[in-house]
Amino acid sequence: MVVANWKMYKTLDEALAFLQAFPLEAEGVEDVEVVICPPFISLADFSRRLAGGSLILGAQNMHWEKEGAYTGEISPPMLRELGVRYVIIGHSERRNFFGESDRVVRNKVEAALTYGLFPILCLGENWDQFNNGQTQDVLKNQLLLALEKISPKGELIPNLVVAYEPIWAIGTGTPATGQTASDVAGYLRGLLKELLGGVADNIRILYGGSVNPENILEYVGKPDVDGALIGGSSLKAQSFAEMARAVSGERRG
Ligand code: PEP
Repeated sequence: MVVANWKMYKTLDEALAFLQAFPLEAEGVEDVEVVICPPFISLADFSRRLAGGSLILGAQNMHWEKEGAYTGEISPPMLRELGVRYVIIGHSERRNFFGESDRVVRNKVEAALTYGLFPILCLGENWDQFNNGQTQDVLKNQLLLALEKISPKGELIPNLVVAYEPIWAIGTGTPATGQTASDVAGYLRGLLKELLGGVADNIRILYGGSVNPENILEYVGKPDVDGALIGGSSLKAQSFAEMARAVSGERRG
């Protein structure tokens, strides 16, 4: 699975230009879920243009209520209506710049599953925590709080996607090593199994943080790493297609 997180980049015109260029660039990509999470303003147009194609639509955020007096917010049914399947939740930029708490993240994960969306739950430690060997403690705390309302018996658990995104690696050009990503993903898989049982084997775990066409195969395909969440390098059709093609080739062996 490769997921493009465009953050607050691309006007509608720029986004549509990407969409026009991408299919040709990505010719031959098979057996990889390719997800694009553009800004909200592009979702409606993307939804119409992606219908029936292989690209999958995601959103970068949402509110947890069905509707209400929440100025500026977008609800889960609004995303569903547009054919959005995935929604990024708890990205560190939302936690750090918009004060999104673990409680809010928990409400959003629960709402996404309730409304038939697939949450991509982002977890990650900062540089000091990484250096002090606190990564596992930080991630465990974030994961337990985020899944507090999720029943281990829930049929929708395989819809959950978890992304390990070390904050110090996001947008810095300094990614975690493939070994670190794989070790942390293995740790998260173990925690998910403790919490949810065998169904955790079906939960996809992604790595995110300065992934690019040159390094993507250091991560995807390593034990317990099922894909990548990509910011900066997903903004150009050629570069994002190159990464999808690399993962597709890896899967074909
Ligand atoms: C992200 O924003 O989730 C991300 C991983 O960004 P970048 O690839 O630019 O580090």
